[in-house]
Amino acid sequence: MRRNLSALANTEYDLVIVGGGIFGVCAAWDAALRGLSVAIIEKGDFAHATSANHFKMVHGGIRYLQHADIYRIRESSRERAALLRIAPHLVQPLPIVIPTYGHGIKGREFLSAGLFLYDIITCDRNRGVQADRRIPRCRFISRQEVLELFPGIKEKSLTGGAVFCDGQIYNPPRLAISFLKSAVNRGADAANYVEATGFLQKGNRVSEVKARDVLTGNQFEIRSKVVLNTAGPWAHRLLRSELGLRLNSKPTFSRDLAFVVNRHPMTRYAVAFSTKAKDSDTILDRGGRHLFAVPWRDYTLIGVWHVVFNEAPEKIGVTEKELQEFIDEVNEA
Ligand SMILES: Cc1cc2nc3c(=O)[nH]c(=O)nc-3n(C[C@H](O)[C@H](O)[C@H](O)COP(=O)(O)OP(=O)(O)OC[C@H]3O[C@@H](n4cnc5c(N)ncnc54)[C@H](O)[C@@H]3O)c2cc1C
Repeated sequence: MRRNLSALANTEYDLVIVGGGIFGVCAAWDAALRGLSVAIIEKGDFAHATSANHFKMVHGGIRYLQHADIYRIRESSRERAALLRIAPHLVQPLPIVIPTYGHGIKGREFLSAGLFLYDIITCDRNRGVQADRRIPRCRFISRQEVLELFPGIKEKSLTGGAVFCDGQIYNPPRLAISFLKSAVNRGADAANYVEATGFLQKGNRVSEVKARDVLTGNQFEIRSKVVLNTAGPWAHRLLRSELGLRLNSKPTFSRDLAFVVNRHPMTRYAVAFSTKAKDSDTILDRGGRHLFAVPWRDYTLIGVWHVVFNEAPEKIGVTEKELQEFIDEVNEA
């Protein structure tokens, strides 16, 4: 990438964005589209962090049904439609099967009411989307079809399966880079390997970002009317260490983990399943653990495990013991 650090040091921007994950690059693109002068800096490679380690799903809000959060369902569905419309080469519909069991909360009757409601709430989910990227209505398949698609699935009380569609990203970092390139085409200045090391305040406002070129160690300032902190899991630390700000409520972070299985997917359908294990923490506990096995390119993704994580982001990791437990849990299910 061509880094123009002298432009960063000599321009007063409308907006400087700190952090080049998916949130930062989308904000840069959105602001540049609106005619603002924008700079975005990233201390490593763009989209190298959380935004690269992703389960590839573009959620359309179905999970908010259980909270009856219609606003978020509509918002998610609208954003999914936007990605299917503007990035059809990187985002496609992904059919997901939820096996139905008995006639209670896991049964077809209960699910069909929820999915019917979801279809109605998102009736405009394909506005402007090309034909082969549209999200179809939810539907049901027979017990026999479920068994053919997923041999080995738990058979006792199985009545069939509900099929709904979400979006899937072919390559999340590439999607982020596409947003960045579009922002740069609209005049944004972008530089990787530039770290925000502090802020200068004028009264109650941040007026400059102190920056360090990670490649040379050179320090410089970037002036801006507004600074947007999209440093992901580093965001609140940056506020605390550089501005002494304490957020009203402490953000909760989760270490998420998924397997990439290098075995060809059996079908183009993803499947939702639950395991006997409970999520260990209470904040993110949802009863048993709900996982997905998802076909992606030539692989199958299995996840996502959540654990509340309060350490510094650099300390993220997983132990051999945890890995073995997760493998046993999947095999058992
Ligand atoms: C295993 C896993 C699976 C997931 N699956 C999904 C999914 O299927 N669908 C979904 O929608 N979401 C999913 N997520 C969540 C999603 O990945 C995150 O919500 C999203 O990537 C967060 O993006 P971000 O831009 O906030 O953070 P990040 O991508 O972490 O970006 C923050 C950036 O800020 C930079 N930075 C930090 N400090 C500084 C500084 N001082 N100066 C300059 N730059 C700095 C960092 O280097 C980093 O690149 C998943 C997450 C994980 C971990």
